[in-house]
Amino acid sequence: MVKCPKKSAESLIEQFRGDSAIRKIFQVTGSYELVLITHFLVEKEKSAFVKRVQKAEQIDDFEILDIQDEYMPDYSLVQVGHSNSIKLICDYCKREFSGDIFSKVIGPRKRYFCCNTCLSQFEVKFEKGSSY
Ligand SMILES: [Zn+2]
Repeated sequence: MVKCPKKSAESLIEQFRGDSAIRKIFQVTGSYELVLITHFLVEKEKSAFVKRVQKAEQIDDFEILDIQDEYMPDYSLVQVGHSNSIKLICDYCKREFSGDIFSKVIGPRKRYFCCNTCLSQFEVKFEKGSSY
């Protein structure tokens, strides 16, 4: 997280765009101006990056937070219903559901299909080791 004058944000974004350690840049509201999502393979890369941040004169202050764990929302808990604004599509043929929905847990999560054919086709493909 980076604190800098608002007018410097743009030039910093430009500067960080080319930085190979950075995966994502967010301009945010609140007491910090920018959030930089970084990824380091080794500790050395991290300290080199921190040095680059320290050297950037537009930056007033910064804080480093280490991500300890990552959690994803469980989309399999999304309710299938008419009032739901989320569009559900068949996991096999990618068509939007219009009628019945067939579901089965295949691999790590529950899958949804428009028909039994798609379900069994998906299972066949999955067992062959396609990357789903
Ligand atoms: Zn289908």
